[in-house]
Formats: sequence, structure tokens, C-alpha cells
Amino acid sequence: MGVFTTAGELAAIRTSGRIVSEALDEVAAAVKPGVTTAALDAIAERAIVRRGGTPAFKGYRGFQHALCTSMNDEVVHGIPSPQRALQAGDIVGLDLGVIYQGFYTDHAATVPVGEVDVASQKLIAASREALTEAIKLVSPSLQLGTLGARIQATVERHGFAVVRDLVGHGLGRQLHEEPKIPNFGEEGTGAFLKPGMLIAIEPMVTAGKYPVQLDDDGWTVRTADGSRSAHFEQTVLVTNGRPEIITPYGPHLKH
Ligand code: MG
Repeated sequence: MGVFTTAGELAAIRTSGRIVSEALDEVAAAVKPGVTTAALDAIAERAIVRRGGTPAFKGYRGFQHALCTSMNDEVVHGIPSPQRALQAGDIVGLDLGVIYQGFYTDHAATVPVGEVDVASQKLIAASREALTEAIKLVSPSLQLGTLGARIQATVERHGFAVVRDLVGHGLGRQLHEEPKIPNFGEEGTGAFLKPGMLIAIEPMVTAGKYPVQLDDDGWTVRTADGSRSAHFEQTVLVTNGRPEIITPYGPHLKH
């Protein structure tokens, strides 16, 4: 588990987070009908490299791309393809990571392509709200079970479900470190957060039931019932005061 407190560590983590935030914003700005997911991946990679970062996902366990593009019923880890063009009415999850001076940050958002139906708008809004509200709770007095329970409560209040098979995670010197950060749980259970911990909180939300399945490509996770899914993720630093959002959303993802 990474706990980061020195000025040098924090400066590198903040730069890594700035790079991944600006890169995600560039990708989000390019989302429109007709654009291929491979084109979005190329934009992500260029945006990261131009700012002095390294794409954290490229080469991770054999993944070939800087960006995951997860459309509609795909939850996470969709593979960019030059054969796959966005269409109006789709929703697309954009997920990417950066390494800068050895420090990993991880960031994601789901965005509409053109006009999308009201149900998809609500799914996106609820997923985002669950993350935003969860981050406000982050402090050394927060237990992981409580964090998960609050995320789950927000999502379920809107009539949606949280995926159980995939969870958020600590990070820092590696892309995935302890602890696991579930998006479900029991109030008053689990480990406490610690000052200096870097964590990725990432609710994965389904419009239908929460079970997921893995495609034959070995990467793409999609809902078992074919319902749509949304995913938001931010890297957050635990402090003794208010949590520091290391990966703020840029102008194309503000609302
Ligand atoms: Mg992550």
C-alpha cells in the first residue's frame, strides 16, 4: 500500500494527475458521432506523451492501448478499434492512466455521444453523483465498508445497481495496490483510510442487474443482461483535512 507524504512524491503525483486529467478532457472533447474508438485512443496517447507522461495501460498485462473505450452495455476495459465508430445515442466510458516519474494516476468518465435517451442521461448522472458524494467522505476516519455502502446507496436510490466483480483500488507506485475499494458494503466495517494514501474510487453502475461477463477478447467486461453501464473514476489523496482530488474533471467534463 502506498502512503505518500514527501513534497517530492506529492509534486510528482499532482503532475501525473494533471496530465491524466488534461488528457481525458482532450479525449472527451473529441467524442462525436463518426469518430472511431481507435481515434480516441490515439488522441489519449498523444495527449499523455506530449505532456511528459507515459500511458499506464499500454503494455499492462498485454493491453495494447492507452485508453479503454467501453460502449453502452460494456462496463470497463473495452478495446479501441478502427472498425468501431461512435453513433449518436451511444454512451462511451473513457478510462486511462498515466505514469509520471514513477507515479500512477487513474481516471475515467462516461460521456454521451450526441443526443442520448433520458434513461442513459440519468445513468450517467447517478454514477457521477455517487463518485462525487463518495469523495466528500474521504478522511482518515472513514472505513472502506462505509464508503462502499454510501456509493451503493446513492446508486440504488436512483434505481440502478453497482457492479460487484470489479472494485476501486489503491495506487501510486503501481497501477493497482491495496486496499481494494468496493462500491458496495456495510456501514461501519472495513479498514480505515490513512493520511497520504492514494486511492482510485470508481463506481461501475448498471441500468439493469449487476452481474457482468467477460468477452472472448479477454478484456471487455459487459453487463450480463445487456443493460447499459456507466463508470466514473478519480484518483484521490487522503489527507488529515479535506481530500485532494488529484484528477479533477476538465472543462469538457464539467456540468
Ligand atoms: Mg482504476
